[in-house]
Amino acid sequence: MKCPYCSFQDSRVIETREGKDGFVIRRRRECLECRERFTTKEYIEKNVIHVLKSDGRTEEFELEKLTKSLRIACQKRLISSEHLEEIVNDIFKEIQNKFTKVVKSVEIGEIVMAKLKTIDKIAYVRFASVYRNFEDVSEFTKEIDNLEKNT
Ligand SMILES: [Zn+2]
Repeated sequence: MKCPYCSFQDSRVIETREGKDGFVIRRRRECLECRERFTTKEYIEKNVIHVLKSDGRTEEFELEKLTKSLRIACQKRLISSEHLEEIVNDIFKEIQNKFTKVVKSVEIGEIVMAKLKTIDKIAYVRFASVYRNFEDVSEFTKEIDNLEKNT
């Protein structure tokens, strides 16, 4: 970290303090050249992926929502919650590998369907049959509920 006063490359840390929430670390530094003091902050860099919906809105990708829609699709199937968690993690990894910032909801749907197809045909059909109207999870949940009642 360059000194903001003289641009010297080296400084020593004279104090380190963690933020209240534990997610920020502040370091008080002293330039080894001009002896001026300055503060640096250290944050965890989060790789936030946004979902672009078909209506043009975007929202932050939430693993919880993905888990919920899969749990619904896999209801009463012989898929343990551990297995389901594994599936969700695989899907999330694939999304992270393929997309860095934005993923279309359509693309998430494609990945989920490809995955479910290899695991459980019924879960796949459930997911695929409501997929066209898949705008958000609440809508998806409603559709699945209707599907369950009508079969
Ligand atoms: Zn300096």
